[in-house]
Amino acid sequence: MQATKQTGVVHPRDYGILLPARGDRLFVSPMRYALGALQLQDEVAMGRMMDEYERTHGIEEGRAVHALREAIRERYNATSLLDEGGRDALRKVHWLGDTLVGTVGAKSGGAPHVAKLRIQHGAIVRTRCPCPDDEWSEPKHLDLLCSHEAALHLAIVKDKRSRLGSRANITALTEKNLAYAPPLPFALNRAKTAELVYSFFVGGMRAFEVSRRALEDSTMYTSSMKSALETGVAQYGVVAQRRQKLERTGLSATQERFYSAVNALETRIDQQLRDELFRFHGYSVVFKGSPFETIAKRYVRANTVYEIATRVGEAPLLVRKNLHGDPLPWIASADLRDEMPAKRAPYLSIDDCTRKHALTEVLVPAKHYETFVPGVLRDFYEANMR
Ligand SMILES: [Zn+2]
Repeated sequence: MQATKQTGVVHPRDYGILLPARGDRLFVSPMRYALGALQLQDEVAMGRMMDEYERTHGIEEGRAVHALREAIRERYNATSLLDEGGRDALRKVHWLGDTLVGTVGAKSGGAPHVAKLRIQHGAIVRTRCPCPDDEWSEPKHLDLLCSHEAALHLAIVKDKRSRLGSRANITALTEKNLAYAPPLPFALNRAKTAELVYSFFVGGMRAFEVSRRALEDSTMYTSSMKSALETGVAQYGVVAQRRQKLERTGLSATQERFYSAVNALETRIDQQLRDELFRFHGYSVVFKGSPFETIAKRYVRANTVYEIATRVGEAPLLVRKNLHGDPLPWIASADLRDEMPAKRAPYLSIDDCTRKHALTEVLVPAKHYETFVPGVLRDFYEANMR
């Protein structure tokens, strides 16, 4: 018997944007690009960046940089992320056919990672890096661009812009070899990079929160990213953590039965949706910004979306959306109703992934959505959803 039990709850790892790529969709996040930018800075540049941050935030001189250094030392047991930059942080950059390869320092100061970006028609179509982040990529679903790959991407764009030449630039690539640099997804200047890394390391915010907040700032987007979002080519999305598991020893027999039933119901709904030709489309935020906010599993078929939302200690709800129109030119989206989701009449919301208008219905399994619901969950719905 396994020592832990799945609860159906999904925890977010990062928030970002999904771009079309070959096979898997490419997931890019402001947090990972900010870490990549930090990686490329040497100690002097980092010091300058944090000086500015201290001045604009009224922080006593030296205090923020000290806090950042200590937080990074604590997290990685090393400060190479802050101390090494430029050619010390990124080495042996070269092209291998259509793949850009670079050796990027590890944050822990250990063996560096060989990061690869496959570039076709001016866009990144595939990434590879042996760092732990790569394990979060889900085959046939998404390809997560890690901070090492972001550092490599930022470096070729920086070199292309600076025109310093291969002797003085970061990558040591010649102008001809920099010509294929794909456009950056985010407009990260020094002030924004400082804000993101400080919030993450010192402020204790999770990558998910940092990236999500960053993407509510319209100046964070590059023009190519804006047009990709406005035309619906790009969408917002969530990378999920491992799903929440509870230690079996702490569970009562009733809880055991409850979570087994949750898993069984989710599996059944997943299968039903796939049978109806809905495609699993990763994870999304539902009831965003409200006390009921949940990370949901998302299924899409044309303009119809189903999202399975399971909160801690609760049975799953289904959210059905009918999307219509073009993506709205709104940066921030929210679904702030404080009415219990299961008690809502159909309403109009903005779908967080596509930023389109969505006729939204919250469905209680068995009651509004035909499926077999185990008895223990039927009791839960009866008791809580009336
Ligand atoms: Zn990596």
